[in-house]
Amino acid sequence: MAPTSYRGPLVTDVRKGEPREPSVERAVGVRDQPTVTTILGRSQATEFGIAPDDSIHHLVDRMNALRAGALVVVDATATMVGIVTERDVIRGLRRWGLDLFNRPVAEIMTRDVVTCSPRDGVDEVARRMTKGSFRHMPVMDHGRAVGLLSVLDVLKERLSEVEYENMKMKESLVG
Ligand code: AMP
Repeated sequence: MAPTSYRGPLVTDVRKGEPREPSVERAVGVRDQPTVTTILGRSQATEFGIAPDDSIHHLVDRMNALRAGALVVVDATATMVGIVTERDVIRGLRRWGLDLFNRPVAEIMTRDVVTCSPRDGVDEVARRMTKGSFRHMPVMDHGRAVGLLSVLDVLKERLSEVEYENMKMKESLVG
C-alpha cells in the first residue's frame, strides 16, 4: 500500500486484528503519540496574555519584548475573549494608518478562536492550524488559557520525531 504519511508508526496506529510489522517496529521504534503537553513542557513562554482595552501601542511593545507573534486576549475575569497576531496589526495599519496605535486591542482581535487542550495530539493541532490558515493556537484547560502554541512549536516536535526515526533506522542498519 502507498504511504499516506511520512511519520513513523505510533502506538495508536495498531488496527484491530492487524499485528504491527515487527521489523518496521524495531527499525523506527514506536513512541507514544506526542501531545500538546509534550510541547508545552519544553516551551519557555509563560506570558502570553493582553487585555482587550490595552492600546495597540502597548500590544506591539509587548509582542516585541516577548518576541511573540501572537497574544491571547484575556479580560479582567481571566476569560479568553480573542487572539491577536502580527497579521491583525498589519491589517489594522492598512485600515487606520498610524492612528491604529491609540486604538484598543479589541478592535483588531479575532473573537472566534479555535483552541486545543493539553491532551490533544500534535498532529491534530497541525491539522486545525492548516484548516483555519493560522499559525497560533491557545491551549485551554478548565476554561482558562494555559499556553499559546505557534506553528514553530509544532514544526520542532515533528522534526524531533523525524530525527528519532532516522536514528532508529540507522541503529537497525548498523545492528
Ligand atoms: P496567524 O497566521 O496566526 O498570524 O493568524 C492569521 C489570522 O488568523 C489573524 O487574523 C489571527 O487573529 C487569526 N487567528 C490566529 N490564530 C487563530 C486561532 N487559533 N483561531 C482563530 N483565529 C486565529
